[in-house]
Amino acid sequence: MSLLVVGSVAYDGIETPFGKTDRILGGSATYISLASSFFAENINLVGVVGKDFADEDIELLKSKNIDLEGLQIDSSGNTFFWKGKYHHDLNNRDTLDTQLNVFEHFDPIIPEGYKDAQYVALGNIEPSLQEKVLDQVNNPDLVVMDTMNFWIEGTPDALKQTLKGVDLLVINDSEARELANEPNLFTSADKIREMGPDSLIIKKGEHGALLFTGDEIFSAPAYPVIDIFDPTGAGDTFMGGLLGWISYTNDLSPVNMRRAVIMGSVMASFCVEKFGPERLKSLNEEEVFTRYKEFRDLSVIPEIK
Ligand code: AMP
Repeated sequence: MSLLVVGSVAYDGIETPFGKTDRILGGSATYISLASSFFAENINLVGVVGKDFADEDIELLKSKNIDLEGLQIDSSGNTFFWKGKYHHDLNNRDTLDTQLNVFEHFDPIIPEGYKDAQYVALGNIEPSLQEKVLDQVNNPDLVVMDTMNFWIEGTPDALKQTLKGVDLLVINDSEARELANEPNLFTSADKIREMGPDSLIIKKGEHGALLFTGDEIFSAPAYPVIDIFDPTGAGDTFMGGLLGWISYTNDLSPVNMRRAVIMGSVMASFCVEKFGPERLKSLNEEEVFTRYKEFRDLSVIPEIK
């Protein structure tokens, strides 16, 4: 099964209460691809990097069997750079610097060989660029999209247009309320699903996630992560784990979507244990499936006899 991933490929400067790094590989497409590569085989990445992009980072992506034909290398400038700082409450971060660099003129050109992708992951980029991707692909089975407040507030019309072509939207709770202009999360979900996406996942940070699909609502628990070090990329990693699992199993049934939400949560819970995508590089099967089981055990509700 093939998975097309479009989004940012970046270098990040990150400061958390536990440490600081001036430059580490980041970007939404990077996290989605690395997380999905744990399960999925044919991952095709579309993005842009600049002349400063390191060979070792290209090698890292290749070593995870991520196809880079769609990764444009623009030698006219540097790679997108983002710098953020987290405070004591790791749910809040300040963006200290955003240098668009080559990302400013990014035109997502989908190589011929990627156009029949079964699964499409639209990482968090400008909605009109996400729409451009949808215009180029041939009837995928599932289009999953992420977005953020910046686009909900800044380009609401383009966002709503793009949403019409999306099957599953993944956003956090404050974004859902803002997009629907509605304080109640469940009413928000109904309104958002009327905008286009058949299914919806609302992430609630350290409090788990809600999946709305068909007539079902699934409430996924949050894993009690003790070793939280750096939350950067957790949202993208969630989407990568989710889509990696769906792509690997090729099963869109509601029960498998539930598994996928947990796999997304498993991968995100590992991601935050180290700086940037470090932890995703070294994960093994036993760790992933053990944590999946821990997630299950967290929310088993005993029957009343
Ligand atoms: P997350 O923590 O899941 O929201 O994603 C963090 C990643 O998003 C970082 O690695 C950044 O490089 C990337 N990022 C930050 N701002 C933007 C932006 N405006 N457009 C695209 N990617 C961004």
